[in-house]
Amino acid sequence: MTLPPNISQPDFTAALKAFAAIVGDEWLFTSDEDLALYRDSYSVLWDEAEERTASAAIAPDTAEQMVELVKIANRYKIPIYPISTGKNLGYGGAAPALAGSVVLDLKRMNRIVEIDERQGYVIVEPGVSYFDLYSYIQDKGLKLWIDCPSPGWGSLVGNALDGGVGVTLSSYRDHFGAHCGMEVVLPNGRMMRTGMGAMPTAKTWQQFKPGYGPMIDGLFKQSNYGVVTKMGFWLMPPPEGYTTGTVTVPKYHDLIPLIDIISRLERSKIVQGLWMLSSPTTGTRGDEAHLVNNGPPPMDPRFAVILNDPGGADMNKLDAAAQAAGVPFWACEFHLYGPAKFIAAQWDCISDAIRAIPGAQFKLNPVRSLPLPAEDIAPMFDTGQLGIPSLRTFSLGPMISYEDEDVVGHIFFSPVIPRTGEAAIEAMDLFAGIARKYKLPYPPLQFPSSIFERAFLFAVGLPVTRSATVNAKIRDIVRELVVIATERGWGEYRTAPAFYDLIMDTYSYNDHALRDFLDSIKGAVDPNGIMSPGRYAIGTHQTGKAGG
Ligand SMILES: Cc1cc2nc3c(=O)[nH]c(=O)nc-3n(C[C@H](O)[C@H](O)[C@H](O)COP(=O)(O)OP(=O)(O)OC[C@H]3O[C@@H](n4cnc5c(N)ncnc54)[C@H](O)[C@@H]3O)c2cc1C
Repeated sequence: MTLPPNISQPDFTAALKAFAAIVGDEWLFTSDEDLALYRDSYSVLWDEAEERTASAAIAPDTAEQMVELVKIANRYKIPIYPISTGKNLGYGGAAPALAGSVVLDLKRMNRIVEIDERQGYVIVEPGVSYFDLYSYIQDKGLKLWIDCPSPGWGSLVGNALDGGVGVTLSSYRDHFGAHCGMEVVLPNGRMMRTGMGAMPTAKTWQQFKPGYGPMIDGLFKQSNYGVVTKMGFWLMPPPEGYTTGTVTVPKYHDLIPLIDIISRLERSKIVQGLWMLSSPTTGTRGDEAHLVNNGPPPMDPRFAVILNDPGGADMNKLDAAAQAAGVPFWACEFHLYGPAKFIAAQWDCISDAIRAIPGAQFKLNPVRSLPLPAEDIAPMFDTGQLGIPSLRTFSLGPMISYEDEDVVGHIFFSPVIPRTGEAAIEAMDLFAGIARKYKLPYPPLQFPSSIFERAFLFAVGLPVTRSATVNAKIRDIVRELVVIATERGWGEYRTAPAFYDLIMDTYSYNDHALRDFLDSIKGAVDPNGIMSPGRYAIGTHQTGKAGG
């Protein structure tokens, strides 16, 4: 059995006994078979000495039990690591940030504490998944919609705390931004409520985010300052109608005005749903690409030759070839929600604005009343846009081989870049160059995602294998990418534990003032360093504990 660092076997055994006395023996897991479930199956350190493996796992049932577990952890100085549903694939899975930590698996704390249709909110415990909440709302026939990330098996709490994002309206997509109020067990074992929840008689815990005094909820996002045991989220009313509309523009450099116009419309709240960039020259055309069975149309061989040029795709050549063939270079698919007349007005505004780009063409699909019949939903690729969680994202992107090794998952390199066409073109060029240099299994043209309202996310999923040699190469590629991105001022918004320190080091303004501040808080709230040590590299410099 792995031991937590600097803990003797007798102390560890005594701590486990004390933990079990709180949760019951059946909820303490120590066998290799059980602990295998807490390995990160997408780990780039698989089976290497640095792989973050748990020493044990415990599944408490209540926040009150959590308080007792945290007190015991302090008594024995045992590092603990809470997970909600532990599905953080691509960013660390269920594994702790520091090897030897005891994972606190909150899957049993899966109660929907309160749901209010009239005011549109829910308070959940950490183990509630998007699937759970969706089923609950359907079973009760509540007029509420959820926003979920592409994979629906994760939790509202874990996803929000890791900075996750969904796929419907922009005001709900930022999951931490859409939360309101939380209950936290602090590293000293005290229970605290944030915002209006600090007033025991509060009636507006889920309606008024700021509360009184400094707004501290953000301290629990991507940090290690406490275990969140309840969290409120704003839910949206189901829209009356939904449709998609596609705009195409003919030339490569039309991307620059296109993004400027859409961003202005988005900041004006005229564009509210996700919009997705694709290129008809790569065979992906609007919503046809989202049909499960049909898939995207095959690429025109004339374009394929240019795009797959080993020396790099020359976009001017591709631009000329696309224009000669009468194929628009870019397509942008919009997801539109609301009453039919509202959608029509939004589309009018979008078309009027984008018409300034010569050659722009527009196609609005018929507005459908919601909910759609089941047979219409079945062939859709991503039902997330209809507020329906699924796991279909896992069918995307080939799980093929890399360097003759089977690919078992992906590690995300996720820089945030400016919302301009110039930055998008620069990033597409750069990442295509890296993909070519290392023969990564990607299409030769990848697009930034508009999932954030005011910046692009350029998530690149790098292949993970079970070969230490190939994984070491992938880690080197990530390091190279981080250097390239940092030079351009593109910071990663989220990363896997293997890169926590690397990324934290890039946020170095004024001799690491931010990191030092975060470390000071850590020292003050968690002097024993028991809470998720190593997570997001907070406290590793001050306490000297490993794990970044
Ligand atoms: C193919 C694919 C597509 C993906 N698409 C998306 C996407 O569209 N959007 C997106 O956001 N992500 C996406 N992801 C990343 C990830 O799978 C999701 O974010 C997932 O929801 C996270 O898992 P979870 O909700 O179970 O969080 P958990 O694994 O439970 O939590 C994440 C981390 O937060 C911390 N934490 C969790 N609960 C608590 C708590 N109660 N108190 C304190 N700390 C806690 C822990 O450190 C934990 O490791 C994708 C991944 C893959 C592989």
